[in-house]
Amino acid sequence: MSPILTVGSVAFDSIKTPFGEVARVIGGAATYFSVAASFFTDVRLVAVVGDDFTDEHSAVFRGRRIDLSGLQWVPGETFRWKGEYDLDLNTRKTIYTHLNVFQDFQPKIPANFQSTPFVFLANIHPTLQLEVLDQVRSPRFTAVDTMNYWIERTPNEFASVLARVDTVIINDEEARELSGEANLVRAARVIRKMGPKRVVIKRGEHGVLMSFDDRFFAAPALPLEVALDPTGAGDTFAGGFIGYLASAPTVTDDVLIQAVIAGSTMASFSVEDFGLNCLLRLTESEIKARFGEFKRLIHFNAL
Ligand code: AMP
Repeated sequence: MSPILTVGSVAFDSIKTPFGEVARVIGGAATYFSVAASFFTDVRLVAVVGDDFTDEHSAVFRGRRIDLSGLQWVPGETFRWKGEYDLDLNTRKTIYTHLNVFQDFQPKIPANFQSTPFVFLANIHPTLQLEVLDQVRSPRFTAVDTMNYWIERTPNEFASVLARVDTVIINDEEARELSGEANLVRAARVIRKMGPKRVVIKRGEHGVLMSFDDRFFAAPALPLEVALDPTGAGDTFAGGFIGYLASAPTVTDDVLIQAVIAGSTMASFSVEDFGLNCLLRLTESEIKARFGEFKRLIHFNAL
């Protein structure tokens, strides 16, 4: 079992969906990722928060396998983001993004984190992602996520990140924007030419498409009766996916496929309640049971 180093946003989110609204709850890409991945292995979190982030807020990380020694507390306000969803929950509008303390953040990877074998660059300014890559020593596995926000504002910096990682995990809209291709099969091919040897495309309620070696693997999303808030589902997927890979002895094609199901399993919980609520009360036995449900969902006997 290997630990994972992650850098990305830790945030206060405000979220409005057709099913309710919450204000100033703990979110951020690295938060969802760390909580999800910590069900599988040890996570080392590198991020920054402001002095409005209290011990009470950091309680979401405590009692889990999350090492906070790379979390910087600085004067100022924590990153804030607000999103609003349409009825189908697939379309989201960003109301605001306030980078706040991330504006002047310089990630400093503690010496005992620098040889972490698995590295996940969660969604944040690509320059910060590059600064992390500059400080780690020969990781076995590197993956990156991003958002349209960064693809549009910092395309060159993000291209430099892509050239240096082996896996990219992004959603369908971002894959289309990044590649300039409407078709996701073509988009995956174009993105692989930019550097990463694997592309994992998250398609919300339509599941996941992974392009690797000379093949694809596609998984549906679990059909759910209750879906209240998709915020962080992508980061939660990444946490389950990379957490599973890091907990396996080696990364083989079979393990990659199992990891897609582990990621999809974690994401299915995340959407059932607002913010981190569902992940925070989740148990290992619930994860195992739902992984089994997934297996039944996609298994069939060939003639
Ligand atoms: P997701 O729903 O998986 O796309 O991720 C939502 C999370 O990303 C929220 O918790 C936000 O705080 C965070 N987020 C939103 N915009 C950005 C951004 N531009 N950079 C970093 N994190 C962001």
